[in-house]
Amino acid sequence: MRFWRQLRWQMIGAQMLVVVVGVVTLNLTANILIEQSIAPDQVAAVRTAVMQALTIAAVAATIAGLTTSILLVQVILRSLRSIARSSRRIAAGRYDERVTVPASDELRAVAESFNQMAEALEQIEQRRITMIGNVAHELRTPLAGIEGYLEGLIDGVLPNTANTFLDMKQEVRRLRRLVDDLQTLSRVEAGQIALHFTTFDINDVIRRVVTQIQPQVLDSCLQVQFAPDRQPILVQADPDRVAQILLNLLGNAVRYTPEGGCITVRSELNNDNVQVIVEDTGIGISAEHLPFIFERFYRADPSRARTSGGSGIGLTITRHLAWAMGGDISAASAGIGKGSTFTLTLPRAG
Ligand code: ADP
Repeated sequence: MRFWRQLRWQMIGAQMLVVVVGVVTLNLTANILIEQSIAPDQVAAVRTAVMQALTIAAVAATIAGLTTSILLVQVILRSLRSIARSSRRIAAGRYDERVTVPASDELRAVAESFNQMAEALEQIEQRRITMIGNVAHELRTPLAGIEGYLEGLIDGVLPNTANTFLDMKQEVRRLRRLVDDLQTLSRVEAGQIALHFTTFDINDVIRRVVTQIQPQVLDSCLQVQFAPDRQPILVQADPDRVAQILLNLLGNAVRYTPEGGCITVRSELNNDNVQVIVEDTGIGISAEHLPFIFERFYRADPSRARTSGGSGIGLTITRHLAWAMGGDISAASAGIGKGSTFTLTLPRAG
């Protein structure tokens, strides 16, 4: 409050100073002119007339100036108070709070920036709420499964055999994978993943990952295409994280490519980056879903992805990891049934 009062008095003081300086200057000028050009017997009368005119003008200017200053200060104060009030409401959790945008350019800019900030906060809050809902939903499925098995065992509906326990273990594993994924997601989004950058040949990592995924590729073909000259393609990144990204992309390709389909991995060297392309002839992704597949918990085909154990956060983690290494990842598909292509871009070494 003291600031607002100070501002008001400062404006009034400045106004008075301008009027006083103006009156003194005009009075001095008038005196000089009177002495030079008015007959001596008329000087006193003219001086009185000038003084009267200056007094009226000064009073009028003071009233006009003060009124304008006070109105101006009121307008500024109203807007600033409204912003201060809204900030307090937002801080108390009312994320839908907005301020009225005033007419004047400068105040409008402040109010608009404030409203943009409030909107961003509201979106973050909305995402947080959605995230909690999604996590609860994802946890419910395996928990319901485990509960079902336990009830079946207690009621004697399910046989007390190793197979029942193996099925239960499957649900527990699903739960564990989800919890691990959530932990990785929160760390990667907070930028808390430790990265160990080195220069290495991307083809070595591709070979390693392909060998690792091979046992899962039962009825499809998995082929790797390296550049014909077989020169090493050096990248500057964390090899373990790159392997993690490729494992996710290849795992998805295997999961979403039916029997008889084909998965191809190839590396390409460009002017300032290196690309690893994972292409499959699988179920493809429709144009309507494509822009969202990197979002948390997004599944183009929820029933299919859930039965195959997908949590819908693999690609979100993957993209954040790529970003953390100065790279990027993108997806393309000609549509349902026409396969998908995922392209990982990484900075080239040297
Ligand atoms: P999920 O664990 O469900 O596979 P991801 O984040 O890895 O989660 O993928 C998100 C969604 O993107 C998947 O549910 C699936 O709908 C789609 N998707 C990812 N990779 C492919 C692919 N190779 N072919 C078709 N759809 C894919």
